[in-house]
Amino acid sequence: MSRLCRWGTLISTTWDTQESGAFCRIISVVSFSQIYAQDQVIAQLRRAIVEDQVGHAFLFYGPEGIGKRTTALAFAMALNCEDAAARAGGDSCGQCRSCRLIAVGNHPDIRVFTPETTGGKTVIPIDAIRTKVGEHPAHPLPLREDAALKPMEGRCKVYIIDPANRPGLQEDAGNALLLTLEEPPPHVVIILVSSRPTAMLPTLVSRCRPLRFTLAPRPEVVRALEVLETLAPEQVTAIAGLASGRIGWALAAATHPRILEVRQALLQEVDRLLPSGRKAALRLAECLHTLAASNGDAAVEGEETKTKNSADRIARRQLPELLDILASWWRDLLLTVLGQPASRMNVDFLPQLDRQGARLSAIQLQDGLHTIMRAKRLIERNANIDLTLEWMWMQLLP
Ligand SMILES: [Zn+2]
Repeated sequence: MSRLCRWGTLISTTWDTQESGAFCRIISVVSFSQIYAQDQVIAQLRRAIVEDQVGHAFLFYGPEGIGKRTTALAFAMALNCEDAAARAGGDSCGQCRSCRLIAVGNHPDIRVFTPETTGGKTVIPIDAIRTKVGEHPAHPLPLREDAALKPMEGRCKVYIIDPANRPGLQEDAGNALLLTLEEPPPHVVIILVSSRPTAMLPTLVSRCRPLRFTLAPRPEVVRALEVLETLAPEQVTAIAGLASGRIGWALAAATHPRILEVRQALLQEVDRLLPSGRKAALRLAECLHTLAASNGDAAVEGEETKTKNSADRIARRQLPELLDILASWWRDLLLTVLGQPASRMNVDFLPQLDRQGARLSAIQLQDGLHTIMRAKRLIERNANIDLTLEWMWMQLLP
C-alpha cells in the first residue's frame, strides 16, 4: 500500500487516492500492453507518441474504477521511457531507470494531485496549483511554479489531476490551473481525470483533448480475473457480476477481500433490518457510517485513524462506494418486482432479494434509487454524514 506525499510525488509500488470510492482505488503502474479493455484510447495515445504529436492537455473521462489513472501513469511512463525501441512502438519498457522510478512512485517529474482534507473539506486546494501573492512557495512547489522549471530527470513533466471536477477540484484551483493550460510550457503534459466531466469548469474541458474510457464487457473482466490465477471459478463469476464492467474495481476486489467483506456485512444488515421499517433508520445509518469508517486502511492512516476527524474523512471517502453497493441492491429489488430476475447483480443474495421484493412497489423502489444517488452526491459535496444517512433511510424505508 502506498502513501501519497502532499500533491503527489509518491513512495511505493501502488498508488492510492484521497478521493471518494477508495475501496476500489488501488492502482498499479503498468505499461500500455498490460491495460485491459481500453484499446481505443491506448491506440490514440500510442499513435501520438510514435508520431511525436503529443498535445499538452488531455481529459481522461468515464466511470470510476475502469483504468483512467492507471492509463495516465502508463502514458507518463511511455513519454519518459529511455528505451528507444519501446518508444518507437509507443509504449514503455518497464525496465529503464525512468520506468522503475515511476513504478515505485518516485519520479520527480511525475506528480499526481488528489484531494486532501483541510478545514473540514476534502479538496485539491488552490495552493496546490499556485502560490498566493506574498506567500512563500510550498514544498513541493505548486503546479504552476513547478511547470515553469525544466524536467529534473525525464523528457517531460506529467501532472495528473484526479478528480478534475468539482467539488474535488475547487473552482479557484481550476481557474488557476487554466492559466497553465492556456500557455503550457513545451515540456509539460497535463492529464485531467474525471468521472463527471459535466461537473468540470467548461473552460478547462475546452482546452483538453478528450479521451473517453468505457466499461469493459463481462468476458474481458473475467479474463482479467482469470489471469490472476488466485480465484475459484465461482469467485470469478461473482466478482465479474458485481464489477459491472469496472475492471479496476474487479481487480481490487479480487486482491483485497476487505471490499467483499464490507459488501457482505452491509447487505446482510440491510436484509435483516429492512422489515422493521423506519424504526431501523437510525441503526442502518449508523451501520453504514461505521462500515465506511472502519475500512482496512489502517496501515496507511496509522495513528490518525484514532481521531474522529480522520475517521470521518475515511468514511466520506468510502461512502460513495458503499452507496453504490446499496444502489445495486435497490436496483436488484426493482428488477425482481419488474419480473426481470435474470439481470440481477447480487447473485449470492437471490432468496433475500425475492423475499424483500415482495414487500415493495416498483414506484417505491425507483424513488429509493433516486434517494440513494442524491445522498451520494450530498456526501461528495461535504454534507453532514449522519444527517444525510438518516434522511436517506427515512426516505427509503416503508
Ligand atoms: Zn523504460
